[in-house]
Amino acid sequence: MGENAKNNALYSVKMRSSALKNGENRHISGAESITEAAGVPAVCESLVSRAQNHALGDADEIHIKIEKIKREDVIYLKALPVTSRTASSASEGREIMRLELERLGVKRAREVLAKLAETYRMRGAMLLDADSLERLEDDAERGLRVTRMDAAEDLESARPPLKPVKNHFREALVLATKAAHAPGVLAEICVSDDPQYTTGYVASQKSGYVRIGPLKEKGDGNGGRILLYRGASPRECIEFLQKKPVLVTGVPRLPPGAAAPPRMAQTTAAFLEAAIEEKKKAHLYRQTTVIESAPGPKIVYGGREILLLASNNYLNLASDPRLGAAAAAAAEKYGSGSGGSRLTTGTIYEHELLEAELAEWKGTEAALFFSTGYMANTGVIQALCSKSSVILSDEKNHASIIDGCRLSGARTIVYPHLCMEYLEEKASLYYGSGGLIVSDSVFSMDGDAAPLPRLAEIAKKYGFFLMLDEAHATGVMGETGGGLSEMYGITPDASVGTCSKALGGEGGFVCGSSVLINYLKNYSRPFIFSTAPSAPTTAAAREALRILRSEPERVRALREAVQFFCEQLRLRGIGAKSESAIVPIQIGDENRSLKIAHNLIKKGIYIPAIRYPSVPKNKAILRAAICCAHKKEDLDFAASVIAKEIQESAV
Ligand SMILES: *Cc1c(COP(=O)(O)O)cnc(C)c1O
Repeated sequence: MGENAKNNALYSVKMRSSALKNGENRHISGAESITEAAGVPAVCESLVSRAQNHALGDADEIHIKIEKIKREDVIYLKALPVTSRTASSASEGREIMRLELERLGVKRAREVLAKLAETYRMRGAMLLDADSLERLEDDAERGLRVTRMDAAEDLESARPPLKPVKNHFREALVLATKAAHAPGVLAEICVSDDPQYTTGYVASQKSGYVRIGPLKEKGDGNGGRILLYRGASPRECIEFLQKKPVLVTGVPRLPPGAAAPPRMAQTTAAFLEAAIEEKKKAHLYRQTTVIESAPGPKIVYGGREILLLASNNYLNLASDPRLGAAAAAAAEKYGSGSGGSRLTTGTIYEHELLEAELAEWKGTEAALFFSTGYMANTGVIQALCSKSSVILSDEKNHASIIDGCRLSGARTIVYPHLCMEYLEEKASLYYGSGGLIVSDSVFSMDGDAAPLPRLAEIAKKYGFFLMLDEAHATGVMGETGGGLSEMYGITPDASVGTCSKALGGEGGFVCGSSVLINYLKNYSRPFIFSTAPSAPTTAAAREALRILRSEPERVRALREAVQFFCEQLRLRGIGAKSESAIVPIQIGDENRSLKIAHNLIKKGIYIPAIRYPSVPKNKAILRAAICCAHKKEDLDFAASVIAKEIQESAV
């Protein structure tokens, strides 16, 4: 026998979960499946996953019960026919339910419906004598659990692991079909306890499965089930409901007349084209533009020289011959690629030296160099936080921070831009959780700065780790371009920065304690699983840092240029101010911002229109970025042309 008998057996797998609330064990969810031996582990996994992701909350206990079923005991039942009734309100829905019950010969339907409230905290269903309304279950507190049933198709299709998402309709129809066939069951009524699911049903062999919705308000987590019995042997009925294995055939995926599910995202060319069309219609379509010269205050674009008020090359180091020479020398010595990740064969002295220099410059014990700032941000957050962490993040933080939060799976609370009251309230709520507060230091779209002293104070008071992203502040803020941390003399727990902006190269970095850096080397996936930055990149970064530290006059010149440009705009009636190198000019309408940007290019000035999703919808801006090498006459000219275009585009 052995193998054969084993292959032939079926298994009923049941899950129920509960939570402890005020010392009481409260039922949260239950689900079950019938499967062949090979399907048992996958079914267990999906049921557990479902218990862990239930709308009614986290489970404190999850019970799985696996029972062997003899195949010859199984009966097959055809799914009840389904009809749908739509009500205009929950109370109308309950009226429909009452009328359905009366049609089935239940005289005290109104009282039956009132009893639904008594089932809300029960694990199982209530079994009522249809006439006397006497309760017939063995255990009135738990109720009666209808079990050992499934859709036959799911079993026969050697099913892939069940989705941890519940298909309410399918599961309800399977249960209703079994219940309606139990000896003596006249009818069943059910309201779901899922707060998001307001539909329920009346089911019977006579009228089939009558789907009714809504039966309650959205957000209401109260639901229950009542079986109405008429007969002389409730025991037989209970035995059937609890023990008889039933497979239901012909269970539809969706209720008839239900709206088709939202179109599934596809990878077909037609789908991609439609998605692109959507962007174009909303004036949000983007393309790459090709620049035909080195970056600088002026560039060659479309075959002619134009004034560039758009680059992050704030200190004009991107085309500085000294960086080029350092990169060339490093390429000569070490080649163009590093050939391995930092933890395998990719590390050279240039990396270690750069990291030591960065740490010394930022006043921290250690530093770590990543291929990009994007990777540094995702890499730090993902390494420090997990599903059980709390992150407090400014709503205008850079996309790489947002992605880091998502990657970590942490509970991320987004606080209104710069709103320290809100931040403090949340931080106090999670006092002692050892979570993370993360903020841009200079925000990339509007160029405004975070209140670092308050951030540091809140982080310290409530035991949070403070991470500051100095991407747009490096080389810009503080006397010598040391960022906000230099400006305020405050060292956050982790300072992230990038060499790709004022430092004129590429590569991101994190400065912090030695233990933090060692931890990141071991846990930060973008650091571990990506090829080390090349020698030319790393050498250029070192040279840029050396220049920044030895030529603070660049930082001063940048600040003066920004102030001059803002003044020239204000003189012409355009509100403009900036604490950093970024000067946002408010426009609003996406299409208008595009038109202005387009006209500016024609007049020899490149300023991009920044639209959703970089800024909120209908809050498009022209985002001017100033470089320390911009001449006053050029900035004056730009201000006058911008003012004219804005005034002319106003309707
Ligand atoms: C540009 C930017 C980054 C990403 O840096 P890269 O080196 O370009 O990947 C991260 N954070 C902020 C705030 C930025 O502006």
